[in-house]
Amino acid sequence: MISKAGKALNGHLDHRSPLVFDTRELGRRPGAMKRLTRTAEAPKDLGIDGVIGVPENAPLALDLRLESVMEGVLVTGTARATAEGECVRCLEPLTLEVEADFQEMFSYPDADDRNRSRTADPVDDAEDDEDRFFLEDDSFDLEPVLRDAVVLALPLQPVCKETCAGLCSECGIRLDENPDHHHDVADIRWAALQGLAETVQDGEKDNMGGAEPGVDEKQEK
Ligand SMILES: [Zn+2]
Ligand SMILES: [Zn+2]
Repeated sequence: MISKAGKALNGHLDHRSPLVFDTRELGRRPGAMKRLTRTAEAPKDLGIDGVIGVPENAPLALDLRLESVMEGVLVTGTARATAEGECVRCLEPLTLEVEADFQEMFSYPDADDRNRSRTADPVDDAEDDEDRFFLEDDSFDLEPVLRDAVVLALPLQPVCKETCAGLCSECGIRLDENPDHHHDVADIRWAALQGLAETVQDGEKDNMGGAEPGVDEKQEK
């Protein structure tokens, strides 16, 4: 069994985890609904590694709606937090308010047993299991769902502002702080022209050397 975050070593849910929720109050009557709000500390590595993410232990505001359905509990919710990263253009640190929406079905373990007996293909069953989440002792662990939702809600290429001009490609100076910054383009063009002039001179020398085949002709006669 794949160990999931929020689980203790014995394989059961860690009820001390702020991302484990108890559904007992909801009951099993289909249609029953319960709203929950909780501020949890963000788990480690919540975000896109090396790009942007919610710092560990930063406050994570969770707003959940639990709905009892036939096979389990349908969880719909929103997580709000402040992510930190750096601008891909100018490399300055930035913060971003992130709001991640999610919806996930947590099935009763016994609902799974009923499905298992109906499933003919064992391969399909295994694939199915990996994508599914189950209630354990009437509780569920939101962490894997939260991780996917937060990653999807974050930009892959965060920018400090949409108009960020980034860094000068010549010297690396931050262009937003130095709006008049430029390099003398004429210098670069002049250097290119000088290089071209040298090439032409070399070419002329080659043409002069081209007189030799005529000498060979004379020798043949
Ligand atoms: Zn920037
Ligand atoms: Zn520059």
